[in-house]
Amino acid sequence: METVIVLFNRDLRVHDHPALAAACAAARHVVPLFVLDPAIPAGCRTGFLLDCLADLRASLRARGGELFVRHGDTVTQTMRLARDLGAQAVYTSADVSALARGREQRLSAEPIDLRRFPGLTVVPPGQLRPAGSDHYKVFTPYWRAWTQTPWRDRAPAPATVTTPGVLEPGALPDGPPRSHLRGGETLARARMRSWTRHCLDGYADGHDDLAGDRTSRLSPYLRFGCLSPLELAAHGNAAFTRQLCWRDFHHQVTYAFSRIGRDDYRPRNLHWRDDPDALQAWAAGMTGVPIVDAGMRQLLAEGWMHNRARLITAAYLVKHLRIDWREGARHFFEHLLDGDVANNSGNWQWVAGTGNDTRPNRAFNPIRQARRFDPDGDYVRRYVPELADAPPSLVHEPWQADRPVRAYPAPLF
Ligand code: FAD
Repeated sequence: METVIVLFNRDLRVHDHPALAAACAAARHVVPLFVLDPAIPAGCRTGFLLDCLADLRASLRARGGELFVRHGDTVTQTMRLARDLGAQAVYTSADVSALARGREQRLSAEPIDLRRFPGLTVVPPGQLRPAGSDHYKVFTPYWRAWTQTPWRDRAPAPATVTTPGVLEPGALPDGPPRSHLRGGETLARARMRSWTRHCLDGYADGHDDLAGDRTSRLSPYLRFGCLSPLELAAHGNAAFTRQLCWRDFHHQVTYAFSRIGRDDYRPRNLHWRDDPDALQAWAAGMTGVPIVDAGMRQLLAEGWMHNRARLITAAYLVKHLRIDWREGARHFFEHLLDGDVANNSGNWQWVAGTGNDTRPNRAFNPIRQARRFDPDGDYVRRYVPELADAPPSLVHEPWQADRPVRAYPAPLF
């Protein structure tokens, strides 16, 4: 083939990128393209995304290529470039959200050969199906099938990328606010290497320790595809790989149920309370329940929250305050650097009991969780300075003290 466009999206890497590798093998000229589409605003993730794009551009240039950047509607811009260059095909990594699939459908209606490649997950969504259904609804049987299925071979990073010489690369916007974390494949790979070398062995025992902060924190990099989940899973630690399987699980649910961000996956006729003040207190980390406030303040301060804290804060909103999970998911999505539809909505629905949990009425006591996963109160003290001097006996229940803590609210429940 003469010319193939590789349309990047949330697969911003050169290592184990099946679409890029296939294009380099099949075509004389490869046109790596990213379209900054105003229909898909990156919000708080903008700075991180631009870091990823700058890093990808540098990697492609180091291989003799280029990252072409365009602004506007993704399909219109891709087809304009295809016409200008006489490209024969568009290669892209298949995605799962309603928005992404709508875009793929629009492209497939254009007069060009659109080919979708794996790479977003370890096992492609839709590949594993139980008898009589198009997707797994429960995690454990999915995990069983997932661990038994062979994985594809990893695609090596191309040694060279040959782009057409006469094309304007297009500028990356400069000047947006930096995000809490720098993005890009180079940093992602450095963190992957150092975390797997030093911390992976302690993951099974340490991943729920809130103050210990011993999870990988690779989620924003996985969100933008700076890392291949397949490459990460190949490190082979069962407890860690299981979390990557959870990610695949939510993606295959979203692939089958594209309304995951809007509609209850399992409608249960739950009646939610309308309480803007409580919602606001929750979002600001001012509920008066220290473990909840610590999690919510970590989110605002870092654009990231520990998984155990996500479970506690989400359960507090939907089970104690009885506020609609969609309100919580919206706030998380607005502030998380790793915020994505499949994982965010899938987990929120799981907690709310409208999703894939086989025990939708599971009880969740935030104080018991706090004592178990933050036994000395160090996580709370780190994010709630009002309680910096509270003794371990009171740090999770300051309302038990003889005198109220200054500037810290009484609990909402
Ligand atoms: P690690 O423990 O190091 O795990 C490695 C990777 O496995 C993560 O980076 C992530 O990609 C994946 N993973 C881990 N746990 C889960 C899980 N429960 N579901 C899906 N994938 C998982 N994760 C997101 O990536 N984006 C979200 O928008 C998101 N929203 C969430 C909302 C709620 C209410 C809850 C309870 C969880 C949410 N999660 C989300 C899942 C999980 O909390 C994060 O993936 C994890 O905390 C990221 O930190 P880490 O990279 O250190 O994880």
